[in-house]
Amino acid sequence: MQQVVASSNKVNLLDFDRQGLRDFFTQLGEKPYRAEQVMKWIYHDLEDDFENMTDVGKALRAKLTEACYIGAPKTLLDKVATDGTHKWLLGMDSGNAIETVYIPEPTRGTLCVSSQIGCALNCQFCSTGAQGFNRNLSTAEIIGQVWVAAKYLGNVTHQNRRITNVVMMGMGEPLANFDNVLKAMKLMRDDLGFGLAAKRVTLSTAGLVPLIDQLSEAIDVSLAVSLHAANDELRTELMPINKRYPIAELLAACQRWIARKPRTSITFEYTLMQGVNDQPEHARQLIKLMRKLPTCKVNLIPFNPFPGTQFKRSDAADIHAFQTQLLNAGVLTMLRRTRGDDIDAACGQLAGQVTDRTRRSADIRKRQDEGATHAI
Ligand code: SAH
Repeated sequence: MQQVVASSNKVNLLDFDRQGLRDFFTQLGEKPYRAEQVMKWIYHDLEDDFENMTDVGKALRAKLTEACYIGAPKTLLDKVATDGTHKWLLGMDSGNAIETVYIPEPTRGTLCVSSQIGCALNCQFCSTGAQGFNRNLSTAEIIGQVWVAAKYLGNVTHQNRRITNVVMMGMGEPLANFDNVLKAMKLMRDDLGFGLAAKRVTLSTAGLVPLIDQLSEAIDVSLAVSLHAANDELRTELMPINKRYPIAELLAACQRWIARKPRTSITFEYTLMQGVNDQPEHARQLIKLMRKLPTCKVNLIPFNPFPGTQFKRSDAADIHAFQTQLLNAGVLTMLRRTRGDDIDAACGQLAGQVTDRTRRSADIRKRQDEGATHAI
């Protein structure tokens, strides 16, 4: 398998969506339909060697080999959990690696894809946040995660898919890397790409309000919003981004999303942390808020611990009571089963290897060393 060559001045074809690939072929003096032929080889046949593209002429194959390559990220580590959840550590450049997770279920297989090396948003309950931020992933590094997993899982044909859903719920805030994530999601959706329906490609955001509007105009995908608290004071404590885009603004953006895409729903993610946001009063606040978005649903996630966190998972009884309270109020509520936690592959546990440029991780370590605890 060809790997990313850091010093190469060749172009990585995984960086192009269909239009970009057509433009690139035009620049090479080729007919744009040739781009589509190659695209099919890349995403349907998972081929990364031009020489094996049998319906591409010899001269063009030689030209492509000269000008470009198909470079997916390099697999550094590959772990399988007892429940079948798969986690790959993928090398991006020296010192940095990200994680991609595959969650098999009886009727579907979900791939959880990362969008950034680390994350700058600093949500208090997320281990990626505690790692600090290094950089955005390129389109090739994002779609390359799907490509590597598909190849690994033998997802070769559209008839025999192992990856039926992709969620942008790995490391990073996908809307903070808008252009690259958009191009990668176009490739997930494209018939000549992975060919996934809009409801099977989900972007999850901590709530970058203007970019939610921008996304709704740019592509048809599903939206998930990380809420985690239904009052501003608590949400700002847990998610500093709430200071910039408080709940009312976030909900208004969600209402605009639904107005533009009337047949869709939005999933609100709510991680349950013991004594923090899991009490009947919190459920009441959430119910009130969900009344503004009657077609939307809540996805409860029991908190997944990671080293150094001060939060605890809510008790099973509290989780059950919280869900029941919501259901009784008519709020469609699901409980996300914890998957892959024996290999640290569960929500919020993805850490990868991040060379932190923001010094956040150093600050956090310093605070931990000083014994400072977060006041909640
Ligand atoms: N930045 C995006 C994508 C991350 S998605 C977002 O915020 O939506 C991962 C989901 O897992 C988010 O809803 C996130 O809030 C949640 N999460 C983060 N840390 C978690 C933890 N330790 N336990 C459970 N869920 C967590």
